[in-house]
Amino acid sequence: MSRIAYVNGRFLPHVNAAVSIDDRGFLFADAVYEVCEVRDGEVIDSTLHLDRLERSLRELRIRMPMSRAALLVVMRQTIKRNRVRNGGIYIQISRGQSPRDHLFPNPEVPPTVVMTAKPHDRAKAEAQAAKGIAVITVPDNRWERVDIKSVGLLPNCLAKQAAKEAGAKEAWFVDAQGFVTEGSSTNAWIVTAARELVTRPAETGILRGITRTVLLKVADKLGLRVVERAFTVDEAKAATEAFITAATTLVMPVVSIDGSPVGDGHPGETAPALRRAFHDSAEHLPV
Ligand code: PMP
Repeated sequence: MSRIAYVNGRFLPHVNAAVSIDDRGFLFADAVYEVCEVRDGEVIDSTLHLDRLERSLRELRIRMPMSRAALLVVMRQTIKRNRVRNGGIYIQISRGQSPRDHLFPNPEVPPTVVMTAKPHDRAKAEAQAAKGIAVITVPDNRWERVDIKSVGLLPNCLAKQAAKEAGAKEAWFVDAQGFVTEGSSTNAWIVTAARELVTRPAETGILRGITRTVLLKVADKLGLRVVERAFTVDEAKAATEAFITAATTLVMPVVSIDGSPVGDGHPGETAPALRRAFHDSAEHLPV
């Protein structure tokens, strides 16, 4: 089945879908995005994702292109037209199309809205989660506003590529003080010997992941102690468990960091339990 993309009010075959070479997303990464999980024909946590999308737009002074209700209609249509039951829905909004100039277009132009939906293989993802993944660490060389979900992801791409070339699946950014900030497309967590779940506070250095937000509730329900504080690479290597979270990977155990095994080098109990419990606490919106 051929893929369908939404571009500025039209559904088009993916191969014919395009934006202008004057689009500011293309020229300046002047755009934001969101990714929601689609699971068993339902959109997961769309309210929180759209809240964050609105916040990202506001921080960059990009106009909300349509109402939330309208965005949801387009999201559902995009999922339906691509017949995705398990996968993800991608939303990107740029400041719009205008001849290249660093200054914002004046008068204002309509934002560019693009949506795509893609299926994924759940069995494969579960098999990966059962094995866990390796991560490497890299210096965090991103700008300070990583709280904004902008498409300016070049450091993230370089980090993820470095991970792949080192035989790992994710790269953890490390700040100038030696603390882990987050992964190139995920939030980072550890479980300490004292059985505390530790993840960096969302106030600095990270994107406030929606999966992270929901997982804090899940941990609470499971009676796990959570401490929001920064942790070092050495602390992570000495942890009993480590894992990453994102809408696409969910809770994914980390079994090695820079080649050092975490715990016994296999997923522990906590991360898989959180993965299993996650969707009981998530919002489900039927498509
Ligand atoms: N940090 C970064 C840098 C990311 O790109 C993502 C994925 N969008 C996350 C964290 C996880 O966020 P979420 O749980 O909302 O997918």
